[in-house]
Amino acid sequence: MGLRLFNTLSRQTEVFEPLDAEGKSVSLYCCGPTVHDFAHIGNFRTFVLTDLLCRYLRFLGYEVTYVMNVTDVEDKIIARVREARATLKDYTTEFEGAFFEDMDALGCVRPDKVPHATEYVSAIIELILKLVEKGIAYITVDGSVYFSIKKYQSLGCVYGQLTKLDFEQMRPGERVSNDKYEKDAIADFALWKARVPEDGEVFWPSPWGEGRPGWHIECSAMSMKLLGPSFDLHLGGEDLVFPHHEDEIAQSEGAGLQKAGGKFVRYWVHGAHLLVEGKKMSKSLGNFFTLRDLMDRGFTGREVRFVLTSAHYRETFNFTLDGLRGGKSALNRIDECVGKLSELAREVTAEPSATFLDAFREALDDDLNVSLGWSVVFDWVREMNRHLSEGGMTSEAAAANLAAWKRVDAVLGVGSGATSEVLAEVTALMEERQVARKVRDFQRADAIRDELLAAGWTIEDTPKGPRVKRAWSLTEFPSA
Ligand code: AMP
Ligand code: ZN
Repeated sequence: MGLRLFNTLSRQTEVFEPLDAEGKSVSLYCCGPTVHDFAHIGNFRTFVLTDLLCRYLRFLGYEVTYVMNVTDVEDKIIARVREARATLKDYTTEFEGAFFEDMDALGCVRPDKVPHATEYVSAIIELILKLVEKGIAYITVDGSVYFSIKKYQSLGCVYGQLTKLDFEQMRPGERVSNDKYEKDAIADFALWKARVPEDGEVFWPSPWGEGRPGWHIECSAMSMKLLGPSFDLHLGGEDLVFPHHEDEIAQSEGAGLQKAGGKFVRYWVHGAHLLVEGKKMSKSLGNFFTLRDLMDRGFTGREVRFVLTSAHYRETFNFTLDGLRGGKSALNRIDECVGKLSELAREVTAEPSATFLDAFREALDDDLNVSLGWSVVFDWVREMNRHLSEGGMTSEAAAANLAAWKRVDAVLGVGSGATSEVLAEVTALMEERQVARKVRDFQRADAIRDELLAAGWTIEDTPKGPRVKRAWSLTEFPSA
């Protein structure tokens, strides 16, 4: 049946069929970070979900164009820039750099395109002009531009495709200028905000005077510019459903660039929140961890990734440090098993074992059921360990299972356990052993060998110098 995904648009699980007539290429847009601060791991739950879906689509053989924008101008950023007395560019560049460092540490693939709102101001203006031309957008006395929900509806368009809205409480002509607002504040929203003194130097010229774009129009303009007026998948956290995504649909479909009957986005995928003690992890509640906080406590990016992918994306998930410790030992079990398989397979290569791959695919095809995917992995680990301990496994079987694990891990992205952190310690010990051997302190050299062995590392003395071996990695050291 292939991949099925829960589409917020239909509130149903649907078979995924890309727009591409050949069924090969897939276009995916994810609302990226608002770079006003370090992202917290709640934010990263959503970005890791996007990474997982992108990797899984590639695993299935699709050619994915993955776009993630960077919101580098909106209300909160401007407030922070003012407080910091910095320029917009300097301020956002720092947090964008930190964001991608964290994404790398979490093993997330880099998006193919990372558009910045500030680089798309002319595309944004072009889109607003289209809406003005159609009479859906109107200009206010201060030189701002608003989206008229009533006018949009009068053209037969639906506002509220993702959310049920109560239009009774909406008073015609009422406007909301903030980028973020609640459902009960439903009103015409800002596309372009006229320059005010608090904006400082953050403004652009426009047909309506100096000002800056609203947050929602940024994503409509960037996504359609890069992926076309209709594309396959749009992702974000569940808090973006209203108003951000609802407004994105209104602006994009209001401009009418899609083919007759075509939608702006075919599948809307929203990730549930990461919670802390039952409450949404958020900056405003002060109950958040950044990835850096957790790394300072000795956890690694792959452990955090494991925990963030351990629950189904549509379930809220409670984050705890104990859960993270559990993740560490779960990954150790995989590393040990993969290490033993590599020892046995050595240079032998084989086609991936179908049993493991099929079970994994079946789990992920079902609305990206990654928690089931992980249980398939741990069942496989258990089975491998049993076979290995019984001593009946051939090198070919080990190689086939290892090849299957590599394919599975191309989706899960937890990689090898030989992190640089571990290697740094091992390197230091190896160097110390070399020094001990040089001064003929063989007692110390042997003690180090035993210490490394206890930690799961073996030393092989080769003509090129000693090599340390663990799992499937071989690291060479210069000869003394
Ligand atoms: P922001 O940088 O605030 O625009 O948020 C970036 C992404 O993180 C958006 O897709 C949000 O929906 C998502 N997000 C924010 N808080 C959480 C949370 N606690 N759990 C999961 N995703 C979140
Ligand atoms: Zn967006």
